[in-house]
Amino acid sequence: MKVKDFYTKEIHKLGQKIDLYVCGPTVYDSPHIGNIRPVIIFDIFNRVARRKSIVNYVHNITDIDDKIINKAQELGLTEKEISTKYELEYLELLDLLDILKPDAMPKVTQNIQEIIHFIKELIEDGFAYESNHSVYFSVDKWEKYGSKGNLSLDQLEDKEDNKDKRNVKDFSLWKSTKIGRKFKSPWGEGRPGWHTECALLVKNFFGTQGVTVHGGGIDLRFPHHTNEMAQYEADTGNDLAKNWIYVGHINYDAKKMSKSLGNIFLAKDFIVKYGADVLRMVLISKDYAKPIDLTDLIIKNAKTSLDKIKNSLKKALVSIATIEKDIVEYEPSKEFVDYLENNLDTSSAITFIFALVKQLNLENDLKRKEDLVGVIIANLKLLGFDYGTNFNLIRSEIKKAKEEHNFKELDKLKEELF
Ligand SMILES: [Zn+2]
Repeated sequence: MKVKDFYTKEIHKLGQKIDLYVCGPTVYDSPHIGNIRPVIIFDIFNRVARRKSIVNYVHNITDIDDKIINKAQELGLTEKEISTKYELEYLELLDLLDILKPDAMPKVTQNIQEIIHFIKELIEDGFAYESNHSVYFSVDKWEKYGSKGNLSLDQLEDKEDNKDKRNVKDFSLWKSTKIGRKFKSPWGEGRPGWHTECALLVKNFFGTQGVTVHGGGIDLRFPHHTNEMAQYEADTGNDLAKNWIYVGHINYDAKKMSKSLGNIFLAKDFIVKYGADVLRMVLISKDYAKPIDLTDLIIKNAKTSLDKIKNSLKKALVSIATIEKDIVEYEPSKEFVDYLENNLDTSSAITFIFALVKQLNLENDLKRKEDLVGVIIANLKLLGFDYGTNFNLIRSEIKKAKEEHNFKELDKLKEELF
């Protein structure tokens, strides 16, 4: 589903609440920019939706998983040390990228008892079985399994085959583990399966009626979302999500960016090299559902575009500093909001900002200039670019420097603007 279809379907309900669940990171390594793309896209979705609706946004953190256990073993550290390090790094990235804080960021390890209870229910209802201290979901007992993702039967084969399963497509809800961090359960010591945490967290945070929008990167469609769906729907009898929105991946060096291929560009390295706003600009430069082929030219274009916008705003802010009126809280332009409500069309929204910037560069009337600056800043804010917010703080200094023809000071203040 595209955002466009979501709004077409749900538009009559806008003003009501939107329950949004976006699968979060497994905190075992530094995120690459492909991991960050869905976070940026749903940040804009969240900002746009919040204008008319009450949004409850939950973004989980997987803090126990095979990958974390393996990394801990490899480095001789505890799983807790690994997950804490990368969770903090992730939260720091969200801050650097000016992501609006999700309403909740639950961690798996904080929900173990609830997960055990959920698995018990699935066993009692006959959808899951215990085998050799692990618990598996029996896909044969849930006849709708995989029916929603347009997936062929051989695509549904779980790669994690083992002799304890009754059917090769069955997937684990509880994994018996011998190494690493373990939790006590009625089936022995182990840890929850990845697909179970999201199904349980949706039930915990939103109840049994599912969420309005469930999102994530396109790669999560199978097996993760198929398996989340099977558990939640078998347990509650209701759809896990009314709408599914997927974000495309990033190609780098002509291949999909992935840790296994080794062609990754870490988000933190990108930010150090080019800045957080350039990363945001790159990630929203294309239709969110399509892949981005990352090239030096795309990065250069994003940087040039932002520089043009920022330089034009700085120049205009200096010239309107003599107007006594404070810069008021402007509303974003209707046409601009329409682009975002209509399928989160960020590239048309950016083109629209450029048309306003062009107008601003040609405008001589100070009042009209101020209006344009206000609107451009409000539009940028809806895309997550927070420019010009400290203008009111330093406008009297700008005014003074202007009056005194202190150009050195003026340049310094311009830099302080954003
Ligand atoms: Zn998930």
